[in-house]
Amino acid sequence: MKKEKLIIIAAPSGSGKTTIVKKLLSIELLNLGFSISSTTRTNRDNELDGEDYHFLSVDDFKEKIQNNEFVEWEQVYKNVYYGTTKSEIVRLNKKDKNIVFDIDVVGGLNIKKQFPETSISIFIKPPNLTELKNRLINRKTDSALSIESRLSKSESELTFSDKYDFVVINDNLQEAIEETKKIIHQFIIS
Ligand code: 5GP
Repeated sequence: MKKEKLIIIAAPSGSGKTTIVKKLLSIELLNLGFSISSTTRTNRDNELDGEDYHFLSVDDFKEKIQNNEFVEWEQVYKNVYYGTTKSEIVRLNKKDKNIVFDIDVVGGLNIKKQFPETSISIFIKPPNLTELKNRLINRKTDSALSIESRLSKSESELTFSDKYDFVVINDNLQEAIEETKKIIHQFIIS
């Protein structure tokens, strides 16, 4: 269960984390596989079930909690659950992939605690809260209510950055990708 390296990438919603993760997954040298989380939120137009997330009903999600199928899970927003199943780690280990977790700030620390030797945690920080708000509005994937809920959470999420091994400020996307790539590369060759 602990064979490959685990790369934890956490950030408040709208920090550009998912964009960075998608780019990193395309870099062959890093040999990364994406841990597909389970969630009870509905899928966005561009998202596929079983690729971006496993989209579950609240009942199915709770059943998995009961069956102890999660490595970690959180109610990230009110009534919206997210979690990483043990089966994802097994699946990616079988493929000899280093595993990337796109995860909230609390879940990220939870994984780090369970795999202290084989994991690295990276916090992607937006330049400021105004920029974060603009990104959430401009990406046009969230309702006004969802944007409000995400923003109200961001402030407290930002206070978690000093608990992470590395902090990357996403001011310039290309530079943030390059910096994250270097951190991961150093870690997987060490
Ligand atoms: P979104 O709804 O924008 O895709 O994700 C909302 C937040 O939930 C993001 O911070 C995302 O990284 C986080 N998240 C995604 N998957 C997981 C997971 O498996 N566990 C936890 N704890 N958070 C997750």
